[in-house]
Amino acid sequence: MSSTATPSVKAIFESMEYGPAPESAELAQAWLMRHERSFGHFVGGRFVDPVDGERFATTHPGDGAELAQVAQGGAADVDAAVRAAQEALPAWQALTPFARSRHLYALARHVQKHARLLAVLEALDNGKTLRETRDIDIPLVARHFYHHAGWAQLRDSEFAGYEPVGVCGQIIPWNFPLLMLAWKVAPALAAGNTVVLKPAEFTPLTALAFAEMAAEAGLPEGVLNVVTGDGRTGAALVAHEGLAKVAFTGSTEVGRIIRQATAGRGLKLSLELGGKSPFIVFDDADLDSAVEGVVDAIWFNQGEVCCAGSRLLVQESVAAAVEEKLRARMETLREGPSLDKAMDIGAIIAPVQLDKITRLVEQCKAEGGRCYQPSWAQSVTRDGGLYFPPTLFSEVAPSSAAAQEEIFGPVIVSMTFRTPAEAVELANNTRYGLAASVWTENVNLALDVAPKLEAGVVWVNCTNVFDAASGFGGYRESGYGREGGREGMYEYLKPSWEARLEPYREAPGGVPDGAALGAGAPGGEEAIDRTAKLYIGGKQTRPDGAYSYPVLGADGVHLGEAPLGNRKDVRNAVEAARKGTAWTKATAHNRAQVLYYLAENLDARAGEFGARLRAMTGARKADAEREVAASVQRLFTYAAHADKYDGAVHATPLRNVTLAMPEPWGVMAVVCPDEAPLLAFVSLVAPALAMGNRVVSVPSPRWPLAATDLYQVLDTSDLPAGALNIVTGDRDELAAVLAKHADVAAMWYVGSAEGSTAVERESADNLKATWVNFGDRRDWFDPEQGEGREYLRRATHVKNIWVPYGE
Ligand code: ADP
Repeated sequence: MSSTATPSVKAIFESMEYGPAPESAELAQAWLMRHERSFGHFVGGRFVDPVDGERFATTHPGDGAELAQVAQGGAADVDAAVRAAQEALPAWQALTPFARSRHLYALARHVQKHARLLAVLEALDNGKTLRETRDIDIPLVARHFYHHAGWAQLRDSEFAGYEPVGVCGQIIPWNFPLLMLAWKVAPALAAGNTVVLKPAEFTPLTALAFAEMAAEAGLPEGVLNVVTGDGRTGAALVAHEGLAKVAFTGSTEVGRIIRQATAGRGLKLSLELGGKSPFIVFDDADLDSAVEGVVDAIWFNQGEVCCAGSRLLVQESVAAAVEEKLRARMETLREGPSLDKAMDIGAIIAPVQLDKITRLVEQCKAEGGRCYQPSWAQSVTRDGGLYFPPTLFSEVAPSSAAAQEEIFGPVIVSMTFRTPAEAVELANNTRYGLAASVWTENVNLALDVAPKLEAGVVWVNCTNVFDAASGFGGYRESGYGREGGREGMYEYLKPSWEARLEPYREAPGGVPDGAALGAGAPGGEEAIDRTAKLYIGGKQTRPDGAYSYPVLGADGVHLGEAPLGNRKDVRNAVEAARKGTAWTKATAHNRAQVLYYLAENLDARAGEFGARLRAMTGARKADAEREVAASVQRLFTYAAHADKYDGAVHATPLRNVTLAMPEPWGVMAVVCPDEAPLLAFVSLVAPALAMGNRVVSVPSPRWPLAATDLYQVLDTSDLPAGALNIVTGDRDELAAVLAKHADVAAMWYVGSAEGSTAVERESADNLKATWVNFGDRRDWFDPEQGEGREYLRRATHVKNIWVPYGE
């Protein structure tokens, strides 16, 4: 019995070195060679040379080797692509849903058929590991096209009353090149649109390969066009007048630029932007699973993931244990060549990104963060590759750059909390709101915390799981719009009634001439006393500036004075709405009761409101009565919807309940047109309230008394303070203040074309979701235009909560 006997199996397992396990690059290299390592744009079903001939290299981040030369698209290239998409549109839309469905199905099949080529090409172009491209990216791409083949088939029955938008310009980032293409192209085509896609400059190859495969699969020419190039090409695409929709995934900074560039052009816009997602570990969590979760949260795709769990929030009592387990796990991670099948972490996309990560890590060290990297960190084989080791920071202040800025690399910062309330507060202490992950064995705690997190996706005891049947997208500065699932399809459709609207014959104005004269008008104080007031925080209040303006009847008769609200009044109203959380917390049943009550109280005073409308607008008696009756009915409609417009459980293929919950935005601004001053006001305010939003409204400037007469109705209807605030005054002036306000999360504007443009442009600061009329007139009496699910959809955003089951 000697101690030099053969080592035990256990000992071998512990000491055994990994051998190389390379995947062959042959298929991908052969494909590149077939194209002589040089690509044009893919337009109208074939590769075309760039108009001005400029090209640049795309390289493999693992060793810097050039893979191919690709075209730098200019305005002429973009124009050719948009024209091809426009030309292809009529025939594509004339196909039956079944025919379009078969095209999407064929795309899914082709992705599967070419899965190996795509997986290798993606790993080469991006530097990510083959393990991930093969097992995650490419299967999800195929799944996305299969799922949307289904939506194509069901479009007319499941989205009755909606139609495709037209040509879509789509701009995607480099972190999941083909997956982001699938998320954008599949719903666009399924809805009946055609596409011009611009892949990221670092990773254009799989998009080009896909376009070629689509042609091979029989997709009609021009339905999918790919223009390559950098941000300048993206900007040229966004600027093109031929687009009906822009879909963008990338940085919040560029998202803002795109919001401004598209303002007032009548485009649909969806933005999926940055994140700094929390990963919350409660003390009763299965800590080993949670540590594996951290690996998937921040070291999946080198942390170059917009929804990466980059802020680890651990309950204080288990913080030391979690850190110890995490450090041990970091030791066993492997970083290196993407085509080695045993690698966990690949290379960073480009020197500029590596520099950014390095700079932020140095800054975090300088700010006093304690930095941990595994012992092997210094010995990663570099060979010209762009590697950054997995990094854990602890003792980080919640306000530090490391805790606030998106690093987009394999770096996680860790902080501690004591109570669930503190965890929620820390988690929401960010301007982003893309995703969150919650770890606890207590289902009650998980489902209590999930709705409180300001994020579009919440993963319970899991992280970074995605599926085509579930929507994905952000809250706050992480953008708006969803990709995937039923909610994602709406991003590529528009209500048919919206497409039929005509512009106002006479542009809606602001307050009537001589408006600001009120305070100086004869009578001074006395005149102000006869003036209607603002309604803020459940109280009638005088306007800050003490100015008012005359409200004139149809025959020029002076009917009264309305307050000329200003910037300060808007701020007060937003503050009151911000505090009015009781309304959002009320049950849907209670909200319905209040809206019914409002309807009844309005009905009881129908005669008075009818007379007021006649005096203001000069409407005939029967028409004025019809407007009041329609307003009462509309309140009933939304009272009815309050507890019926509910969510869904998405059928994702994992062992998972995926809850799609429509949630209110929080504080919404609603700016109303002049016509039908009572009905339009009710039509816009009621759906927002029904969904639990607190509203700051600007009623018709010309005929505001229909809204100010409502104060008593509101007071007698149990509406909590702050739920509905009313500021009268100049529509576009107040709208501009609301559009800029950081605490307004969403805004509807119905007024002039110029006002619509200003609202969209000014909304870019905090990336509030907007719905404007572009100067088109709605018929508020027509139930198709004046009410319905589109209003409810626009009054909410969907949060998807993933809850796995089984042991
Ligand atoms: P990231 O930080 O992920 O690289 P970017 O927002 O810079 O994000 O890039 C995402 C995509 O947006 C890329 O395809 C890029 O070329 C494109 N892009 C960059 N600048 C602009 C712009 N001004 N307009 C349109 N697209 C742009």
